Amino acid sequence: MDNCIFCKIVRDEIPTKKIYEDDDVIAFNDINPAAPVHILLIPKLHIASLSETEESHLNLLGKMLLLIPKLAKDHGCTDGYRTIINTGRVGGQEVLHLHIHIIGGKERLSAMIHRG
Ligand code: AMP
Ligand code: ZN
Repeated sequence: MDNCIFCKIVRDEIPTKKIYEDDDVIAFNDINPAAPVHILLIPKLHIASLSETEESHLNLLGKMLLLIPKLAKDHGCTDGYRTIINTGRVGGQEVLHLHIHIIGGKERLSAMIHRG
């Protein structure tokens, strides 16, 4: 997707410090963090949202879920963290490329859905 900001990060057209990368996914810090740890985990493949996922994405989605606890632990979220997937306009999704927010690093996260 030519104009997708996260596809540009995947293609290194927007310089971003990647904190994890493999053949299928990348993770990087959110530019506007809601907490001391705020990681975005995205597939390299452009999938617009969770609502656009299909059977062929099964392995990719499973891999992303399994990576979350590893990334969280590596970034010091030993006592817990919050994962958020905003979907669509009503869900507050601003970037139309599937991403999982991994938020933590505070003693207590507020009851916020995204930014409280
Ligand atoms: P969402 O509202 O779930 O679509 O969240 C999109 C997130 O992407 C927001 O938390 C933004 O701060 C974050 N974001 C947007 N552009 C960038 C960027 N260039 N690098 C890192 N994070 C970004
Ligand atoms: Zn994209």
